[in-house]
Amino acid sequence: MTRGLASARTGRYLGRMNDIAPIPMPGSKPERARKPDWIRVKAPTSPGYHETRRLMREKGLATVCEEAACPNIGECWTKKHATVMILGDVCTRACAFCNVKTGMPRRVDPNEPQNLADAAAEMGLEHIVITSVDRDDLPDGGASQFVKVIEALRRTTPDTTIEILTPDFRNKHERAIEAIVAARPDVYNHNLETVPRLYPTIRPGARYYASLRLLETVKRLDPSIFTKSGIMLGLGEERLEVHQVMDDMRSADIDFLTMGQYLQPTPKHAKVMEFVTPAAFNAYAAIARAKGFLQVASSPLTRSSYHAGKDFAEMKAARAAQLAKAHAKA
Ligand code: SF4
Repeated sequence: MTRGLASARTGRYLGRMNDIAPIPMPGSKPERARKPDWIRVKAPTSPGYHETRRLMREKGLATVCEEAACPNIGECWTKKHATVMILGDVCTRACAFCNVKTGMPRRVDPNEPQNLADAAAEMGLEHIVITSVDRDDLPDGGASQFVKVIEALRRTTPDTTIEILTPDFRNKHERAIEAIVAARPDVYNHNLETVPRLYPTIRPGARYYASLRLLETVKRLDPSIFTKSGIMLGLGEERLEVHQVMDDMRSADIDFLTMGQYLQPTPKHAKVMEFVTPAAFNAYAAIARAKGFLQVASSPLTRSSYHAGKDFAEMKAARAAQLAKAHAKA
């Protein structure tokens, strides 16, 4: 059996992409890059997983864990950590990396904020992550639903800390951001997803600098809110382009960077160009820390919301230590 190779130049795993590709037979399925051992995860079977699944169904909530076919679902749901996707499960964009359905979304569910808050209370969540599909069809891009969800959570389960992962609210971001920031989530996350050169193919409906500006605006409006952003690796980006993204994020005063391996959800989606090795993820993390991020999560299985509660606690502690140091110097 052919084993994958690690490139001496980049330290990245090239999998079977160095092999000579076989000529596909008519009607055969397109071949996908073979996953290296460090990507494999066990099928979810635990009672905790089934309990989380039951609750999501009972409350009629969609999750990005399922819609995006996240490899961490077994681990996260066992610990009762799920990322709830509001505003339905149909997206108005069609990014080349994303598995969420696209098309004409349904009307906004007025009961969704309270249903979500009730589920969080029932699960006893200390920290919750809420995301949404893109809703370019709505006049405010769905910002008011984020506000209602935050308000319902504060009323129903006031000790739960709230992390939101929003779309870019293209062409309406100023008003949308003002409304959401006024509702005061603890963490505001918006992912840049990839390096700017790859936007036209990977994230064609979005603009790199608009996404950066969104996060900069959040920080300018309320510096106490933690800002967070992430990119996927393995889409064909170069090392120096990743470093440049880190610099751009620091210029926008982003606190927390996440980096994880891109996995192709179906043969129709963008291909995996490389499997980045765990050692290369560690090297990126060291560079990111040196550039001044308060918190960095970087590993093949890192996703925006992976270990989000633990990372939030660490980030809070890092900020407190930084403020104490500045105070002592003054
Ligand atoms: S990493 Fe995030 S999206 Fe994946 S299963 Fe965990 S909570 Fe869900």
